Formats: sequence, structure tokens, C-alpha cells
Amino acid sequence: MHKILLVDDSKTVCTFLSQKIQDTLDVTVDIAHTYAEAKERVEKNPDYFLALLDVHLPDMNDTTMVDFMIEHDIPSLVMTGDFNENTFKTFSKRNIIDYVLKETPESLNYIVSLISRVYQNSMTKVLIVDDSITVRSQLKYFLNSQLFEVLSAEEPMSALKIIEKNSDIKIIISDYNMPNLNGVEFLKIIRRNFSKNKIAVVGISTDEKSAIAFLKYGANDFVIKPFFKEEFICRVNNTAESLENVNKLEEIANIDFLTKVSNRKYFFEKAGIYFEEAQNKKTPYAVAMIDIDNFKLVNDTYGHAVGDDVIKALAKILRDNIKGQDIVARFGGEEFVLYLKDISAEAASKFMQSMCQKISELDIVLPDNQQINFTVSIGVSSEKQTTLNEQINNADELLYVAKKSGKNRVIDNVENLVLA
Ligand code: GH3
Ligand code: MG
Ligand code: MG
Repeated sequence: MHKILLVDDSKTVCTFLSQKIQDTLDVTVDIAHTYAEAKERVEKNPDYFLALLDVHLPDMNDTTMVDFMIEHDIPSLVMTGDFNENTFKTFSKRNIIDYVLKETPESLNYIVSLISRVYQNSMTKVLIVDDSITVRSQLKYFLNSQLFEVLSAEEPMSALKIIEKNSDIKIIISDYNMPNLNGVEFLKIIRRNFSKNKIAVVGISTDEKSAIAFLKYGANDFVIKPFFKEEFICRVNNTAESLENVNKLEEIANIDFLTKVSNRKYFFEKAGIYFEEAQNKKTPYAVAMIDIDNFKLVNDTYGHAVGDDVIKALAKILRDNIKGQDIVARFGGEEFVLYLKDISAEAASKFMQSMCQKISELDIVLPDNQQINFTVSIGVSSEKQTTLNEQINNADELLYVAKKSGKNRVIDNVENLVLA
């Protein structure tokens, strides 16, 4: 887990900030009240993810501590009592994350949000595309100060290769004037494959005309040269933040809250695309409906919370066993649906048989160490239907037969089946 060092002589500020930071992020906070204490802590543990520094301490009233952290490669966020010409002069030139006020409760909240921002940045890859080595290294320096992970390319073609290899690139900073391909032409290629919400592009241009062209062709933002470090950082941080917000909303819309697998809505969207593709290319596939047996009894015997744990365990075992592009979604209460891509009818039945077996062998351990087991019934539909809805209905009918014929089984075909 990441560690943050908080140095402030006010106990109230320390208590408030450390509590708030630990509530917001998965980090631990070490506290020091003097420069001497801070120094000792860093000498013992030089791996601090970040230091949050009050620059007016009983034993230090200048930039010694900030410079000490810079020397030890610890990214620092400096807290000052006031903004004036002097603070600007002292800190804007130093390699720190930022300098902020700490006077009011709002400013303390702002500090926490800044820490969250750079914490997210440390997991965000940014690609710089610029033909000038000076600009590349300056932008890299700015972005590193915000803890972004930075890659760079000197022209669009090699940038495309880097993007191909790094599917987790979230933001591209692109110059306009480059040899072979200008920034807007490069942006057009990016937008053919990645929407604004997948990869954000921030254009850099020397004039407003190309800045507008960037926006018209789908850049998320732009900066006009020359610019201040603060403006650039602010625009990139804002871009990263809106990208995350959109992704969070997408997640809320597509993910089932309890189990964290896809929800019904997402299943219809994604499986709909797969289904069309399979019809056009005539590739095989299967849809399976899975329903927990006698689940009402689980709830009635052990309570709703244990019922929830059983549902989560089923989601997890399904998710852990499907292949990369297959979909598992929670269809309703204790009912799940799978879309298995490019799979023969035999292989689909065999796979679901093995899942049925594995699920029946899964032990759920209750808080009092009591162990419970559960089974599922499964209907697998591999025979091609004309619509996805019909395919799902077919799987559902087969599931119904599995229930009627004794539960804890897979039914893939009703021919030859004689019901009791
Ligand atoms: P069968 O073997 O025929 O499937 O019987 P069953 O008892 O599993 O099925 P039934 O449809 O009668 O009951 C399903 C129960 O699942 C009823 C409902 O209260 C419960 N349920 C639905 N959603 C949730 C949930 O999110 N959590 C919990 N704990 N229970 C849920
Ligand atoms: Mg059931
Ligand atoms: Mg049911």
C-alpha cells in the first residue's frame, strides 16, 4: 500500500487531513510535526509516494524541507498560509506537484482532492507526440510532476505503434506541426479506432485556427503555445478527471452493483453486436442461462446476506472461467446469462457441464465457519435462432426443462428427453 508523509505542526490539521485522505484513498498516512521528525521518517523509509508539507514549522521556516524531499525524489505538495509574489517565486520554479493554501476547511478538502488526482494520475499513461526533443522533455517534466506515467514519440507513425502496444494509454498530447502528418491528421486516425471517452487527445498548437481544427475533429482540449506550466497541467488534469467521470458513469450504467459483472442492459448491447457478427460470418456461438437451485431456501435458512454471498460466489466462478471476449451478466435475482463466442455446440455443452460440476463443489464458508454448498440448473442454446431474444428464450426453455427434470444439471437439447 502507498504511504503518504504528512508534515504539519498543527495536530488539528494532521488529524483532519490524515483521516480524510485515508477515507478517500487506499493509502496509509505517517505524521510528523517537525522537520527533524520528517527527516528521520524519510531516512528510515525513503519510499513515500508523496509528501504533504507545511512550510512553517517550529524548527524550519524556509524551503529546506521541500528541497530535502526533492533530493529524495519524493513528490511534494506544499501547504502555505498565503499566496503572494514571494510564494509564487519560491515554489513555481521548484519540481513539486503544486503549492496550495491550507487556511480554510474548503482548502483542506481541495488538498485531499488534489492528492486523489495525482494518485489516479500515477495509474494513468500519457503519450506525448512532438517532433521537438526540447518540447518533449519539458512536457514530460510537467507531466511527471503530476505523477503521470509518460511515454513519448517524435512523430505520429511511431506514436501509433506505441498505442498498439500500450492498450492502457488514456491521454495523448499531440503537437500540430510535425513531419509527414500534422496533428489533426494524426487525430483523425486515432478517432477511427478510439472515441473521446476511450483515449483523450489534447492538441498543442501555435495558432487558434489549428486549435479549432483539433476540437472539430474530436480533441478533448487544446493549449496554445506558448503556455504556462500551470495552464498545461490544469488542462491535462481536467481532461484526466472528465475521462474518469465518464468511465465511472459507464460503469454504473453497465455493471451489476452486487456482483460487479455486467448487467442485463450491457448484455443486450454487447451480445447483440456479437450475435450480428456471428450471423454474418456464420460462426458458432452459445447462450447459456444459469439459475441457482432452491435459492429461496438459502435465503430462508441463512438470511439474505448469505444469499447475496452465494450470488457473488456464482458470479465470480463464472467470470473466472469464461474466455476473454465471452460475456457473463446478471440477468435477474439469482439468474445469470453467458454468451460464449466462437464455440461449437459440443464444446459449449461440455464447458457448461464442467461449470455445473465446479459450482456444486464450491464451498461457501460462513462467518461462523459453517460451510454451505449450492447447485445450479443450466440451459444451453447453440442451435442458431433468428434473433438474440429468441436465442435467450430458447436457453430459458432448456433451463426450465433442467429444473423440471431434477435440477443440478445442464440441458442442451430437448429432443429425446422424456419428462417425468
Ligand atoms: P428454483 O430452484 O426453481 O430456481 O427455485 P428458487 O427458490 O431458486 O427460485 P425462486 O425464483 O422461487 O426464488 C428466487 C429467490 O431469490 C426469491 C428472491 O427473494 C431471491 N432473490 C432475488 N434477488 C436476490 C438478491 O439480490 N439477493 C438475495 N439474497 N436474494 C435474492
Ligand atoms: Mg432459482
Ligand atoms: Mg429464479
